[in-house]
Amino acid sequence: MKAPKTHNILSPEYECMSRDAIRQLQGERLRKVVKREYDNVPIYRERMDAKGIKPEDIKGVEDLRYLPFTNKTDLRDEFPFGLLAAPKSEIVRIQGSSGTTGKPIVSGYTQNDVDVWTEMVARALVAAGGTKEDIVQVCYGYGLFTGGLGAHQGATKIGAMTVPMSSGNTQRQIMMMKELGSTMLCCTPSYATYLGETIRDMGIDPKKELKLKSGCFGAEPWSEEMRGKIEELLDIDACDIYGLTEIAGPGVAFECLEKKGMHINEDHVIPEIIDPVTEEQLPYGTAGELVFTTITKEGMPMLRYRTHDICVINAEPCACGRTTVRMGRITGRTDDMMVIRGVNVFPSQIESVIVSVKGVAPFYMIIVDRVNYTDTLEIQVELDGENFSDTVSDLEKIRNEIAEKIKSVVGISAKITLVNAKSLPRSEGKAKRVIDNRKI
Ligand SMILES: [Zn+2]
Repeated sequence: MKAPKTHNILSPEYECMSRDAIRQLQGERLRKVVKREYDNVPIYRERMDAKGIKPEDIKGVEDLRYLPFTNKTDLRDEFPFGLLAAPKSEIVRIQGSSGTTGKPIVSGYTQNDVDVWTEMVARALVAAGGTKEDIVQVCYGYGLFTGGLGAHQGATKIGAMTVPMSSGNTQRQIMMMKELGSTMLCCTPSYATYLGETIRDMGIDPKKELKLKSGCFGAEPWSEEMRGKIEELLDIDACDIYGLTEIAGPGVAFECLEKKGMHINEDHVIPEIIDPVTEEQLPYGTAGELVFTTITKEGMPMLRYRTHDICVINAEPCACGRTTVRMGRITGRTDDMMVIRGVNVFPSQIESVIVSVKGVAPFYMIIVDRVNYTDTLEIQVELDGENFSDTVSDLEKIRNEIAEKIKSVVGISAKITLVNAKSLPRSEGKAKRVIDNRKI
């Protein structure tokens, strides 16, 4: 059962402000948080002093660009309490993420920080159609990871019946879903797919035997194709939710039932898009690195935190009535970025073109070189063995289609080489898609 396309809004006084009013509120809150950081956190004071900036120089959002950035390495270096801007006795919660190497990163929350985070997730659930009549099954992990507790707090705040299943134990998840009549689901998109497939394998018809209507899925990047799959398998509306421990947890941004980008909770964070190389601010509508400044956080506020996630921010009004800007799906990480002929190029942009063309498989190799002081870009693409017709004109058509789309999406021209099916190297781990032969 799909959620009726209602546009309930939990806090219209903040979610539907005029753009001028949002900007003014952000300016007021920014001034306070900058002073708080300067007075309490040594590395922020040192960095601002090094730039010759005093808190009173920051008058509003337009001055954000003068402030120093914060990186994940700062959280590691200052682990665990070096970035606290409140006395330790005011901290009521620690959340964190394990990270793959070395020390974890942790964030400290005051009671007010927990309340703000709870409000953000509650807004997300309401935007996905949630009300106090709902039964919300939370299958994110509970613990230091923010997914479980975040969704739990948000669901409780809207008065829904909250079912803290945590992750794993799929058979029991499905039994509880059926017996309790869960109407909403909070988990990772990959787990939602797995649940859906298992439900289908068990011969359960979600339309007849389950009451699910929608879900908030996040904690990993996913695609429109995956949305389609989850919606079909579970017969629900699948909404995206974004967040990170450094900023609050899930709920920093969320999709409404229009499903056209995630509304950013701009009364609590200021988003910026920057060029990851020059660190200059870019206008909304341009792809770049997402940067957040928290403006209401007390325990461990962040000035210009670099997420390394690449996306576009859309400031157009949304049909749901919210006036907050929306971030598009994460299309890549700055770590993967190449600069070719002065243009920032992401493998994910090239991949998006290749999957949209018929006759080729989603296997490719990007080869960058420098000939006569000019960067060259070649993309080798595997033909799809199954629906492949090998007449010369067909090949020419495919090549031209890819070349034209690459030019329009990436902004530079590339040489397209079609190669035989299954001829490019396969790897068991992370696929190697780029060979850069330039001597820098
Ligand atoms: Zn909306």
